[in-house]
Amino acid sequence: MYSNPKLLIGLEVHVQLTKLKSKLFCPTPADYKKSPPNTHVCPVCLGLPGTLPVVNRKAIEYAIAVAKALNCEISDKLIFVRKHYFYPDLPKNYQISQYIGPGFTAIAKNGYVKIFVNGKTKIIRIRRINIEEDPGRILYIGSIEASPYSLIDYNRSGITLLEIVTEPDMTSPKEARAFLEKLIAILEYLEVTDPREEGAFRVDVNISFEGFGRVEVKNIGSIKDVEKALTYEIIRQKKIVEQGGKVERETRHWDPNKGITITLRSKEYEEDYRYFPDPDLPPMRIDKNFIEKISSTLPELPDDRINRFVRQYSIDEYRATILVLNKWLANFFEEAAKIYSNYKKLADLLITDFLRWINEYELMPENLKVTPLHIVKLLKLWDEGVLSVKMVKELLPRVIKEGVDIETYVVSSGYMRISDREYLCKVIEEVIRENPKAVRDALSNPKAINYLVGLVMKKTESRADPQITREIIQDYLNRLRMEGS
Ligand SMILES: [Zn+2]
Repeated sequence: MYSNPKLLIGLEVHVQLTKLKSKLFCPTPADYKKSPPNTHVCPVCLGLPGTLPVVNRKAIEYAIAVAKALNCEISDKLIFVRKHYFYPDLPKNYQISQYIGPGFTAIAKNGYVKIFVNGKTKIIRIRRINIEEDPGRILYIGSIEASPYSLIDYNRSGITLLEIVTEPDMTSPKEARAFLEKLIAILEYLEVTDPREEGAFRVDVNISFEGFGRVEVKNIGSIKDVEKALTYEIIRQKKIVEQGGKVERETRHWDPNKGITITLRSKEYEEDYRYFPDPDLPPMRIDKNFIEKISSTLPELPDDRINRFVRQYSIDEYRATILVLNKWLANFFEEAAKIYSNYKKLADLLITDFLRWINEYELMPENLKVTPLHIVKLLKLWDEGVLSVKMVKELLPRVIKEGVDIETYVVSSGYMRISDREYLCKVIEEVIRENPKAVRDALSNPKAINYLVGLVMKKTESRADPQITREIIQDYLNRLRMEGS
C-alpha cells in the first residue's frame, strides 16, 4: 500500500568563483563570458600533452573563506584527484577535482547552513565542498534532443568551481529555494562570486521518496527552475509509486522551455570514475595560520547581520531575513534607518511594494535613481498625514523609477491629503446628490457606507482623508435616520 513516504531532497551546487582573475590551474584570464568562443584558452586549459597545472592560490583562499562561512571542518591537506570520464567538453578525459575516500579528502566537510521557512529555523547539513575545474561548454542548436550537431567552446575549461553538496535534509521545493537563497547570499557577502552572472551557479538536484530510486536532475540554472523541476519530479515520481511502479535510478535533464524533465542516462556509479591522485599536483599542506588569517578577515555574514537587525532595529526574524538576503536592500535599509527611526514601517515598505516595483521594472541596484532619502521623505509625509497610505502607494513607483523628490512634488502639484472638512463636505454633498440609491442602501445596511466613502475617494483621486470622510457621511446618515423616525 502507498503510505506517503518521506520526500528527500539534496542539492549539489556548482559555483563559479567569478571574482578570481585567472583560471584554477593556469594564468588564462577568467573573464571569458563576453568573449568569442575558444579565445580564453592556453595549452594547460586545453589539456594539451606535456603541460603542467599550477594551483591558483587565491582560489584556495576563496574556498577556505566559503568553507568557514558554511561552518565546515577544513582539511589540513589539499589533495587533487583525477575524475575520469569521456565527454567532448573535457579535453584531458579527466577533470581535476577532489574526492573523499582512503588517502583522499575534500577541502572541507561537515558544515551547515541555517534556513528560515514558515516561521521556523532549520539546519541543512553540508556534506562536503570540493574545489574543481569547470569543463568546457557544449552548445546545442535548439533543444538538446533535436540539435543536429553540437558546438564546443573551451573558454570555460579550467574556471574555478566549488561543488557544494548537502545532505538530503530538504523536504520541499520551498526549503530548497530557501537554502539556495541563503547560500547565494553568503557567497555574495563573501564577494567570491557574482551570482547574477550567467552560469555562475548551476544546481543538480537529487530527489527521491524514502525507499525508492534516487533521481538526479542535472544542470539547472536558476532558483526558479530548481523549484519547478522539483515540483515536476514530485508529481512524476508520486504517480509511478502510486501505480505500484518502480522509480528508476537515473540522471535526468530539465527542459525549462517545456517545463519537464527527460531521461539523459542511467546513473553512473562513483567507481566508474576511477578516481586517483593527480600525479601533477602532489598533496599540499594547508597551514593553520593560513586558515586563521582568512577566518579573521571574513566580513559580517548573513546570519550575524540578521541577528544584528533583530537587536538593533527591533524587527522580527522574518523581515530581517528578507532584507539581509538581498544585500543591496539591506544596505539601503541601513542608510535610510540613519535618518528615520520607525524601522518596522521602513522595513515593511521596502520588503513589500518597494521590492515589487524594483522587480517589476527590472531595475538593477547599481542604476537606481531612488535613494534612501527619497523613501524617508515619503515616509515622513505619510507620518505627518500629508499623504495617505493609498497616496504613498500610488506615488511610490514614480519615486522609484524617476527618483522624484516627493517634497517638491507635493508642494508644486498640490497632491496631498484633503482633511479640510468644509471642502470634503462639498464633495460629499455632490456624491450624495448623485447617488440616491447608494444612500438608501447605506441607511439600511451599515456596511454599505464603504461604497459612499469609495465614491468620495474616486472624486478626489484618493486624496480625501478616509477617516474624516467616513465621519461626515456617518453624521449625514444619522441625521437622515433621525428625520425619518
Ligand atoms: Zn589556460
